[in-house]
Amino acid sequence: MKKYENYDLKNNTTSKISSVAKVVYIPESKEEFVDLLKTFDSMPVIIGGGSNVLLSSHGVDTPVILTTNLRDITINNNTIKAQCGVKTGVLSKTAADNNLSGMEFLFVIPATVGGVVKMNSSAHSQSIKDIIISAEVFDIGQKKVLTLSNDELELSYRTSILQKKPLVLLEAVFNLEKQNRELIDKRMQENLDYRKEKQPALTEPNFGSTFRNPQGAAVGKMIEELGLKGTVEGGAKISEIHGNFIVNYSKQATSTDVLRLMFKMYNAVKQKFGYEIKTEVIFIGNMTEEEKKIWTLIKSH
Ligand SMILES: Cc1cc2nc3c(=O)[nH]c(=O)nc-3n(C[C@H](O)[C@H](O)[C@H](O)COP(=O)(O)OP(=O)(O)OC[C@H]3O[C@@H](n4cnc5c(N)ncnc54)[C@H](O)[C@@H]3O)c2cc1C
Repeated sequence: MKKYENYDLKNNTTSKISSVAKVVYIPESKEEFVDLLKTFDSMPVIIGGGSNVLLSSHGVDTPVILTTNLRDITINNNTIKAQCGVKTGVLSKTAADNNLSGMEFLFVIPATVGGVVKMNSSAHSQSIKDIIISAEVFDIGQKKVLTLSNDELELSYRTSILQKKPLVLLEAVFNLEKQNRELIDKRMQENLDYRKEKQPALTEPNFGSTFRNPQGAAVGKMIEELGLKGTVEGGAKISEIHGNFIVNYSKQATSTDVLRLMFKMYNAVKQKFGYEIKTEVIFIGNMTEEEKKIWTLIKSH
């Protein structure tokens, strides 16, 4: 297993915000991962695709584990078992190569299996809840491996039991449907085309949707109606393409820049529409007093 000290996590995220972690581990196998997890009494920071996290510009003191090298995939008829570090693009492509449908939505999400289960990711009328059979997790509290069923994972809009308890996802098993390869490819291409039109590309680094949509309303639309698209704070900007995306347009944005923008979005939406919107992105690391104040107000986790 590799271990690094004072490691900049910038390139392990899609938003490319510089954040130095005191210690980073990169396990090479599931067994190594479990042995490492057994050494912790409280939850370490786990980073998969880094596509839903805002990392602190003031560093991360909690030990960090990168799941990058936990990439095994096993196919058995209609089921696919994937380790937590498998990239969703690779998983979706593997399913398609085996004429299996149900993962076309994952093709356009720049994530890993660990992250999409924790967030119960969804898009284009498909979601993790629809396809997951079970997940193997490590319980930091009990220091043991458990298998949780779809029901036990408590999956609903952008949430799961992994957000409520100190559980680390090791691997997950999905149930898919045999389908014509052309139809699967067509759906994947349509999803890709839709994204290209409606969302900023990762050439403008970002972490996807900033806030969760309140029931019956879309944050992106509200921000657009408020005329806030394009608003800049330091090195960060509200995307001109999608109002719920913040982009690190300068490649120099700090966590404070991003949180100040989020504070503006939160206040404007509350004043005009009455919703107290809550974050989808997850903050990781040390906070200044200002950051703590903003985060306490807007956090959902
Ligand atoms: C361009 C873009 C488009 C996106 N589109 C969508 C979309 O359509 N639908 C959608 O739902 N989301 C979307 N997202 C958001 C994001 O991709 C998802 O939330 C995804 O689930 C995050 O996965 P990840 O592997 O990148 O997780 P990370 O960002 O690495 O981590 C997210 C959280 O999961 C935890 N985590 C990661 N791995 C594990 C593990 N093995 N065990 C326990 N906890 C773990 C982390 O600690 C963190 O709390 C988008 C993001 C981007 C940048």
